[in-house]
Amino acid sequence: MIAVLKSGVSELQKNSLIKWLEAQGVGIHLSEGQYQTIIGLIGDTSRIDIDLLNGLEIIDHVTRISDPFKCANRRFHPTDTVVEIGSGENAVKIGGGNFAIIAGPCSVESEAQIIGIAQDVKAAGATLLRGGAFKPRTSPYDFQGLRGEGLDLLRKAREATGLPIVTEIMSASHLDMFEDVDLIQVGARNMQNFELLKELGKLRKPILLKRGLSSTLKEWLMSAEYIMSEGNENIILCERGIRSYDPYTRNVLDLAAIPMVKELSHLPIIVDPSHATGKRSLVESMSMAATAAGADGLIIEVHNDPEHALCDGAQSLTPSQFSTVSAKVSEIRKLF
Ligand code: PEP
Ligand code: MN
Repeated sequence: MIAVLKSGVSELQKNSLIKWLEAQGVGIHLSEGQYQTIIGLIGDTSRIDIDLLNGLEIIDHVTRISDPFKCANRRFHPTDTVVEIGSGENAVKIGGGNFAIIAGPCSVESEAQIIGIAQDVKAAGATLLRGGAFKPRTSPYDFQGLRGEGLDLLRKAREATGLPIVTEIMSASHLDMFEDVDLIQVGARNMQNFELLKELGKLRKPILLKRGLSSTLKEWLMSAEYIMSEGNENIILCERGIRSYDPYTRNVLDLAAIPMVKELSHLPIIVDPSHATGKRSLVESMSMAATAAGADGLIIEVHNDPEHALCDGAQSLTPSQFSTVSAKVSEIRKLF
């Protein structure tokens, strides 16, 4: 539910209304614009008497939002959210017209590998470096990632190139190891790990929230809501394809999710054409399509030696292929 105040309402009137609402057991999200103050009521609003609220002298109007996501809802926050990652001269913005490419290997494998790829993707236009240290593999017998050592190597690559680092967290118990990670990724398999989401909500660090393997847009936005309702609004959504029945591609890239999510939410949305297709040959066309559909960025797997990659080699581009994709994407961005 959202309550729009009349203009000219005093601080005292506003605060006493907020106190009264809080006493009824709802959380408050205040949005104070230049012309309008909007009070978002979070949680169980079923006990709020909408007619009573509407009748108050200081209220312009009250709307019940049928969508269960409030913090992530564009109706309540009409302007695009811009998420800033990293700091200083290498800080990167995503959303609200700011487009960025995240690139790097599926997994961090060695110092030479991650630093070499970081330098290559930076030269080709990527402004953030990805690399998995904790890998959510379907089989426990597959490479599980270099874990803490992988995070150290990512830090070294950041030092060498200045690129902010993006890497996946799999458990809230690892949070202290992720303190200086610039953008924490929640993978598809953890999209509904609600305890993890709540812990990430207590941070003020940017979170990259991937869409679950078979999640609806509403479920995905509700996961964003878990993080936001704890106070962390720095969320970037990532469409990475959803399960279907056709074995030719790893997943089905839901391109319509990009404009649909933009209608529903103010959060930035980027696309992962690598996991969406599972095939190197499809990454260029899907990167261009996602960019044309209005994505705020891309996350692309790049490996110096894809044939020998420890994870996801089949969908990884070589640095020179990445360079071509990056150049084509920047041509498409000129249309925006
Ligand atoms: C990844 O980014 O390496 C990854 C495991 O992605 P997803 O969670 O989308 O499968
Ligand atoms: Mn991967």
